[in-house]
Amino acid sequence: INTAQNHEELLEQRKQHIGRNLSISYKKKLKIVRGALQYLYDDEGNTYVDCVNNVSHVGHCHPIVVRATQKQVAILNTNTRYLNDHLVDYAKMLTATLPGKLRVCYFTNSGSEANDLAIRMSRHFTGQKDVIVLDHAYHGTSTTAIEMSPYKFDGKGGFGRMPYIHKAMNPDGFRGPFRNSDPEAGNKYATDIARIVESLKQAGKSPAAFICETLLGVGGQIPLPDGYLKAVYEHVRRAGGLCIADEVQVGFGRVGEKFWGFELQDVEPDIVVLGKPIGNGHPLAAVVVTDEIADAFNNGMEYFNTYGGNPVSMATGKAVLQAIQGEEMQAHALQTGNLLMEALRKLAPRHPLIGDVRGKGLFVGVELVRDRQTLEPAVPEIDLVVERMKDRGFLLSTDGPLHNVLKIKPPLVFNEKNAMDMVTALDETFTELSAGKI
Ligand code: PMP
Repeated sequence: INTAQNHEELLEQRKQHIGRNLSISYKKKLKIVRGALQYLYDDEGNTYVDCVNNVSHVGHCHPIVVRATQKQVAILNTNTRYLNDHLVDYAKMLTATLPGKLRVCYFTNSGSEANDLAIRMSRHFTGQKDVIVLDHAYHGTSTTAIEMSPYKFDGKGGFGRMPYIHKAMNPDGFRGPFRNSDPEAGNKYATDIARIVESLKQAGKSPAAFICETLLGVGGQIPLPDGYLKAVYEHVRRAGGLCIADEVQVGFGRVGEKFWGFELQDVEPDIVVLGKPIGNGHPLAAVVVTDEIADAFNNGMEYFNTYGGNPVSMATGKAVLQAIQGEEMQAHALQTGNLLMEALRKLAPRHPLIGDVRGKGLFVGVELVRDRQTLEPAVPEIDLVVERMKDRGFLLSTDGPLHNVLKIKPPLVFNEKNAMDMVTALDETFTELSAGKI
């Protein structure tokens, strides 16, 4: 093999041999060679604070997780057709964090696969096909998950909306028709779901499911307005549909006040979908359902998943939960997230670019605007900010339908000093930007 001699060569070889539509960050590409907790290191000896990797939830190469995975790799890895303690132990540990009725687990290898399965189960349970999703949502890359993802099917290369998928308004309290200042915004956004349920009824149908993230990720780092999911779940359940919570981005203590995003809305989903942080980077995901749904899905067709639930994944999942709980990461996320958002809000009077600072715990968004009245998105300024922040040693990304939301969701070990240093770097970067220096 002719190993690449430099970054340019490696990039060129990547373009030749790896799928053409795989994106890569930054103008000057980074070659990251090592990770440790909230830090990443490149091949030139530079250190970066990883402010956006929520897959490495408890930190890159967290020793508890590394040790557990290494140990199990050396003992046994096989499918689930033999008895294995790790499988059942992990299912018990995981379901202990969820409401009592959610007690049956299906393990998969990615969030996409888990969402795909969740939709299939809802269709079995209800005998219906139609699904309600939120506008701009992303639920994964499988064929079914793309059908559930307006972010993909409405975008470039998408096939458009399937007739059995229904898009509800994104409950965006900053930019949408009902704003955060309106205490009834949650209920008002929920009426859009009632409208869809009613139109299905007129057509002699009912929804199989409603699926949404419990804080919106790709939709723009948006906490749901108070009362929103309560009202939505009522509308959906009245029509016989199941309520699916996609916790792939937000679960496992990240939101601070609660362990799960749906708990912030005081609701109990029928199906919960877990991914990304669950294995701290190891390919593990899960669907957790009630007994009734599991029984309905036990329909004669075996559910077998070659890698899902293997002992290495299960040992890894256990270690992740142990690290979160043992190191009190949920409380840490709450405290650090609050300090971070407070410091970001203090920047706003000096930087008109900051339209909104929002989030829960260490799931934070900063929406950048050119004008606080018109809310014109600050694009491409945001890309200059992200690029310059990299030079200052902080890795961030962007999100939102208008591509103008700075996305901050670091490993939960991100600490107060990291937060304050990042805010200082942002302050300097915004100053440079307004002076036309970048
Ligand atoms: N759901 C949400 C909310 C996601 O953000 C993602 C991934 N970005 C997925 C599902 C799909 O997960 P995966 O990439 O592991 O298939």
